Parts: sequence; C-alpha cells; structure tokens
Amino acid sequence: MQPFRFLAAGVLAVLTGPLMAETDPHSYAQPQMVSVRDLKLDLDVDFAKKELAGSAELALDWHDKAARTLVLDTRDLDIRSIEAIGADGKATKATWTLAPRDPIFGSALRIELPSAAPAVRIAYRSKPEASGLQWMTPEQTSSGKHPFMFSQSQAIHARSWIPLQDTPSVRFTYSAHVKAPKALRVLMSADNAVKHALDGDYRFTMKQAIPAYLLAIAVGELDVRETGPRTAVYAEPSVVAKAAKEFEDTEAMIAATEKLYGPYRWDRYDILVLPASFPFGGMENPRVTFATPTIIAGDKSLVGLIAHELAHSWSGNLVTNANAQHMWLNEGFTTFVENRIVEALYGKDVATMQLVVDDQELRTEIAKMKPAEQLLVTDLEGIDPDEGLSGIPYDKGRWFLRFLESRYGRDVFDPFVRGYFDHFAFKSIITDDFLAYYDANLAKKHPGKVTQAELDEWLHKPGIPTNAPVAHSKRFDAVDAASKAFLAGTLAAKDLPAKDWVTYEWLRFINALPAKPTLEQLGALDDAWKLTGTGNGEVAFRWYVATVRGGYVKARPQIGEFIGHIGRRKLVVPIYEELAKTSEGKAFAIEVYRKAKPGYHPLTQGSVEKVLGL
Ligand SMILES: [Zn+2]
Repeated sequence: MQPFRFLAAGVLAVLTGPLMAETDPHSYAQPQMVSVRDLKLDLDVDFAKKELAGSAELALDWHDKAARTLVLDTRDLDIRSIEAIGADGKATKATWTLAPRDPIFGSALRIELPSAAPAVRIAYRSKPEASGLQWMTPEQTSSGKHPFMFSQSQAIHARSWIPLQDTPSVRFTYSAHVKAPKALRVLMSADNAVKHALDGDYRFTMKQAIPAYLLAIAVGELDVRETGPRTAVYAEPSVVAKAAKEFEDTEAMIAATEKLYGPYRWDRYDILVLPASFPFGGMENPRVTFATPTIIAGDKSLVGLIAHELAHSWSGNLVTNANAQHMWLNEGFTTFVENRIVEALYGKDVATMQLVVDDQELRTEIAKMKPAEQLLVTDLEGIDPDEGLSGIPYDKGRWFLRFLESRYGRDVFDPFVRGYFDHFAFKSIITDDFLAYYDANLAKKHPGKVTQAELDEWLHKPGIPTNAPVAHSKRFDAVDAASKAFLAGTLAAKDLPAKDWVTYEWLRFINALPAKPTLEQLGALDDAWKLTGTGNGEVAFRWYVATVRGGYVKARPQIGEFIGHIGRRKLVVPIYEELAKTSEGKAFAIEVYRKAKPGYHPLTQGSVEKVLGL
C-alpha cells in the first residue's frame, strides 16, 4: 500500500473529497494528476471479426495544472489514432506511446497533450482475444440461430475493450452509441429500454457515475419479460419465461432492501440471464445484473444470488472499494446485506442455514490457505486480482459485520449501515475511511462495546477470531442426526427425512459425508434421491465432488455433461480439482475440457488449465 503522502491537501480534496487516498496497484492511471469525468463511446459490434470498433471520448478533470500526460490502461487494444479536443471542440492530433504488454496489467497508454485539453478522442478496435469479452458462435447459444457476445469487466478487464482509467478509485458518467446486427438486442449497464425496437441502433446514457469495472455490454438474441414496475428479465427466448417466474420476487427484494438501507438509486433493476458459459454466478452491473442460468432451479431456492447482486446496488456500486485490496468493503458488506434480504423475504430459518453453511465452508477454505491470504485487508501489489479471489472478502467480511451487529444490536447497527451508505454514496473508499466513519458514528457514541484489539484482530490477523458469533440452525440439528444415523448404517438412504429439504439442508448433508464416501453410501443416496443429474447447481457440484472422491464412476456421464456446458467457475473448478487427483480422473477431465473449451469464457479456461496443468 502506498498512501499519497506527497499530495497537497487541496489536490487530495479535489480527487476524493474528504476521503483518504491510496494508489491502486492494478492500474497505470494517475488520477491524482488528471481524472476521467465522462466517457462517450461509439462502437460497432462486428461478430465476423470478433471486435468492437469505434471510438472513446474521455472528458478530463485536470487536478495538477502543470500535468500534460494522460496515462490510460489498455490490454490488447488496437489503437488507431488519438486526438485532443479543445474547449472550442476542435480536434488536434496528439502524440502517444503504448508500453510493452504486461501479462497481468496490459499496456499503459501515454498520451502527451499540448495543454490541459478538456477531452481526448481515441479511435480503436478490440481484439478477438479481449479478456473482458466473450464471443459465442450461434451453436453455443440455446436457439443456435444467432451469435452472442457479453462483457465481464471486473476485475481489470474493462481495459481490454475500452481505453480508460481502469481503477475503481475513478468514477465517471457515460453514454454510448452502439451498432449491432438487426434482430439482436444490445444491453448496457445504463438506461436500457424494455420496448426498444430491434433495429441494430442503440443509444445509452448512464447518468450515475460508476467505476470502470461496472461498464458492461451484451448483444444477442434476447427476449424480455417485465416482472414489476422497475424490474424486467432479459434472456434467450427459450429461457425467458422460466427466468421471469424464478425472479418474480425481485421487486419485493428491492422494497425489503430499501426499508433497511434507504432508497434504490439506480432507477431500474433488470436481470440479464446469460448463456451457461458465463464464468460467474452474477455480476452486479448497475441497472442490469448479469446472471448465470445455473441459479434457475425451478423453486427459487438459489435466488439468494439475486439478493447478492441487488445488495451491490448499495455496497459496491454506490459505496465502492477504491482498489481490490479493500474488496471486503464491496463483498463483505454485500454478503452481509444479502443475508438480511434473504431473512426479510424467506425467513430467519433460511437465512440462518445460509450463515451456518457459509461459515463452515469458509473455515474449510481457510484451513488450506496461507496466513497472509487470510487477511481481510490484503496486499495485492503485483498480484492478478482474479487470482487473489477467495471467500475471505466475502464471508470473513460478512462475519466481521455480523460480529459488530451482535455487539451493538440491530437497533443501533442497522441505522449505522444505512448512514454509511448515505455518507459515502457515489464515492470510492478504503478501509481507513470506513474505520473513521465507524469511530465517529458507532464506537464514540456507544463506547465499551468493541475494543481496538478486537477490531485489529478482524481486520489485520489471519483466521477467524474466537469472538466470532456462531450461528445455530435447529433445522440442521435434524439433518445432522439423520446424517449420523445414515453414516452409522442405522438409517437407510431412502428413509432420510429429506422429502422437504431445501437446498441448504442438502448442502449440509453432503458436506457431512466422509472424505471418501463408500460406493454403497453413494449408490444408496443416488437411488433414493436422484442426486446425479440434479438441476440444482449448488447441490450438483458438491455431490459430484463427493462421487469423484468415493470413486462412484456411475455419475461420470452427468459430470461430463455438467462441466461440459457450464462455465461458472465456482461450480466447475472444484470438480476439475477433484478429478485431477487421480490419473484416471485427470484423463477424463482433460477429455471433457478439450470438448468444452471453445464454449468456456477465457477466465474459466485459465482457471481449468491451471488445475489440469495444461
Ligand atoms: Zn459480489
């Protein structure tokens, strides 16, 4: 971490208001000198060439009056020309250099400007291998009729399709003119119009300032169903009705969150269901969450993921971590809020089961991590932020906030969190900003509840502190008793009281299976409960890992089918990891991967190839 000690107070104030600043180890940009205020995109979507071609015009705020150099982040962009735009609107050629490509961070684009130009316009094309875009052939979509393209800009992939200051410490508004083949719909993280004609000509405006990682675009054969006054679901035609049914509670979720944490500030909240190759569960692109179809279980049992992405409308999109080292501010708060939304909509029982499962799985994950990786505030200098991703910012962050909630009580803590969102709305902050706000608004007003040593332990020590609140689920007591009896051989699989189990009860049961379940145990469970081939992605991947451990090869065809068409890393990587532990399993995994690879997102390809040593 490198605080800006050299900055004059006035400069700092311009850049971040009263907030603390810190350089972003994942960006070449120098926003303390000059920062982007607005972006105007003009892009053609070319499926044949797999490229976005056009221009990006950046409106600039110069903080250092002597500065003449604008440094932008790029990766694999083909820069055609760069012009400085004067106050009179006149364009003049600017000189520029593109630095050699760093494998993680890409190439710094240095633009020399004759004066503090109010804007620059960059003509460029993305390349087919752009890490932030996935180009799919018609065969990879469900109808097979049209190609599909979508972006995933987080963590640092926006720079592979737009030259910009790719750091969450800089926020800007944007507008875009996008041309695409007719019959296809274009969506962006902006003001999508439900009734837009499919004429191939789209204009977007995003009036709320966002960081670069929230820039998003998707183009494909997309149908739409409205699910409420400010909510709609977009998906491929064969998926849209099912998706609209699954996500029909979205308006109720927004209302429940507003009641807890204040108004939703982004106008609409739509959901785009992507093809199964989407590498994540969801991505909180503002106004339109991008989601995997693997959460459409048919019984709303996995809509917690939508609660998570919706929660980001407060934590992350509204109050943003200034760089990935403070990611717990985005993901810990969001995981905390997600659980509160689940509680409000589906009851305390379900919310508690979620906590117990997540706490247990975090402890299992931590047991395999180095101490330095277990810290809430991390040092990611030189580290690819996609690699640094673990359950720590999510579940340890959420657990820390639950710890504070348990000490102060909800009567005090709920208004505190709401005040925090209001206070830092549309700002990018670091942990010290949170702590200063916490100190003034919670610690000083309610002394004696939490000691400095306890705070330090949560924020700066590995592991889970011993004072962490332990969630307890009565429904899990029943699952545990059944599980014990089954494993002891005194209860047959078919007699498990599982007829009405919800997803979390199944996860609890499967997680309690021994490291190497016997073939008899796996076979009996499968015969009685048809776990192999389940449509529930969360149950499926845990079950498949158990079958690989126990050598239950009967599940292999369905495993091949599952990891062969789903690209969500959380669901497929653990299965590849387990398969890779034996030479027979690894050979099977490599065979499946070779066939699946063209349909996988570049991020998923990278993760799987690392596991398989390819
Ligand atoms: Zn998240």
